[in-house]
Amino acid sequence: MSLLALEDVTAFYGASQALHGVSLAVGEGEVVALMGRNGMGKTTTIRAILGLTPARTGRITFAGRPIAALPPHRIARLGIGLVPEGRRCFSNLTVAENLAASARKGEWTMARVVDLFPRLGERLGQYADTLSGGEQQMLAIGRALATNPRLLILDEATEGLAPVIRQDIWAAIRRLKAGGQSILVVDKTLAELLPVADRCFVLEKGATVFAGRPGELTPALQDRYLGV
Ligand code: ATP
Repeated sequence: MSLLALEDVTAFYGASQALHGVSLAVGEGEVVALMGRNGMGKTTTIRAILGLTPARTGRITFAGRPIAALPPHRIARLGIGLVPEGRRCFSNLTVAENLAASARKGEWTMARVVDLFPRLGERLGQYADTLSGGEQQMLAIGRALATNPRLLILDEATEGLAPVIRQDIWAAIRRLKAGGQSILVVDKTLAELLPVADRCFVLEKGATVFAGRPGELTPALQDRYLGV
């Protein structure tokens, strides 16, 4: 049974339909890539999962229960941790305070977050707005982990970061995967995303047009669905 499953989900912004039939699944312990060109519905799919832009039709189940009709705070509490696009942290709180603010009982203590991102450990007393973009992204991931999510969702977590920092983030994702963390990842860098993914789903115009293993996403399909 999948940890998360979407079946034929539709969603709207007002009268404008953004999702026309999204289906995807994340199994326990899997890293799943959600791909598609700009504006194809990746962020909206994440918003539908979290109840922020609720699904109008279709089914969303998490850990075996339907969640499409639940309010966002209830869905989050079931164990979905989001690292949103644009790495939002509390800029007027320190690194330690940011982590403490999202902490929930579980194995992801502050010490464990710092073990994953040692750079954060050196900056626990620093205000978040004094961190580099990469460090803020690490903090955003740390905050999501501090909620001890059963599913971690990363929306463009490496966008706009320096190559060396991107490598740190991908290394952290590989470590999380090795530790059995279930992850749904949106990222534009296929060369880094595909090797870590167990399964891929590609969206086009708000609908799932490909589902399969990374190896099945041939160069021709990549060109067709993801090329610029
Ligand atoms: P990107 O890679 O650029 O982030 P995406 O695949 O995440 O793109 P979405 O942001 O989900 O795509 O957008 C899907 C569609 O919904 C697009 O046509 C977009 O213009 C539209 N859309 C997104 N946000 C809104 C909004 N707040 N109001 C109205 N339409 C929106």
